[in-house]
Amino acid sequence: MQAVALYPEEPDLRVIEKPKPEPVEDEVLVRTLHIGVDGSDRRIVAGEIGGDCPDGDDHLVIGHEAVGVVEEPNSSRFEPGDVVTALVRRPKDPGSSFAENTELDMAPPGTVHECGITGEHGYMAEYFTAEPKYLVSLPEDRKDYGFFAEPASIVEKALEQAFTARSGFDWRPENAFVLGNGNLGLLALARLSTGQEFDRTYCLGRRDRPDPTIAFIESVGATYVNSRETELREFQNIHNPADFIFETTGHPPHAVEVVSALGPNGIATLQGIPGESAFEIDGGEFHSELVVNNKGLLGVVNSQKSHFQAAGEWLSEAPESLLDELVTGVYAVDEVETALEDSDDEIKTVVSFER
Ligand code: BGC
Ligand code: ZN
Repeated sequence: MQAVALYPEEPDLRVIEKPKPEPVEDEVLVRTLHIGVDGSDRRIVAGEIGGDCPDGDDHLVIGHEAVGVVEEPNSSRFEPGDVVTALVRRPKDPGSSFAENTELDMAPPGTVHECGITGEHGYMAEYFTAEPKYLVSLPEDRKDYGFFAEPASIVEKALEQAFTARSGFDWRPENAFVLGNGNLGLLALARLSTGQEFDRTYCLGRRDRPDPTIAFIESVGATYVNSRETELREFQNIHNPADFIFETTGHPPHAVEVVSALGPNGIATLQGIPGESAFEIDGGEFHSELVVNNKGLLGVVNSQKSHFQAAGEWLSEAPESLLDELVTGVYAVDEVETALEDSDDEIKTVVSFER
């Protein structure tokens, strides 16, 4: 079968032939349909993050945003033809409490592998196998968009974490603000703009009009905030204070500046993973803003099965036209280099095994 493999020692990314995987014990064999590409993939291929090969291998099959159909369910609850997506993490120690409770998203990073990211092969191959507990069913009519379940699960986790943190009182959030107009930012904006939790949404970017991401932001009824014109600390004076902020850029000063854009009792979740960076802050102001306004900052990485299920529910409700607007490029396996290019004209690119 064909697979897209990173050889980190060379370094090189190429399409290789590998034997079709043989499911062991109760493992499920899945035929891959599509794999979404995100910023993590670009950084892995660029040698910036992850990229560790599984023990004994000289390559890492990339891809962690999967959708496929069950080919061999073995003795699992799945049926042939079921549409599934797959969780990203696997435990190094299957006996750990995080592994037993399938709460690997909360496990310390050194105790897990991440399929397609580090230590375990990913899903950008014609077939993959997984234990049933790492697979989540998706609605059949969303099989062309199922690669969105993984990034959308991160948004569901962030929402759950924020609402849980505010569950001690009658929290009535109105305004949600997404930082970043990359593929995760725009997907999050689409989810947060459904009207279920928030009345108004905003999205921060660094682009000037005309721009396809600004058009998308406005098409979901959100307000575009240009960071070249509006600093985060001015956001509240120009717009409404944010009750919930979803940070995707990984721009290190954001972890501090978000606090000034939050209203009283607001919560910011940070998802973007920065590199090292030193900068100066007024620590006193930052600290006191958090305390006297009951503000919260939460780091959020990875996600668990319930978040994938919630993401599947959102996907089945989301209009296809909205999802189509996000998918700007569907590429065949031998076009993977193009899918991995970081272009301002693309929002979400996908590698398809159906082409
Ligand atoms: C993935 C997460 C993963 C994180 C850190 C993200 O791109 O979606 O599942 O935990 O990268 O590697
Ligand atoms: Zn990702």
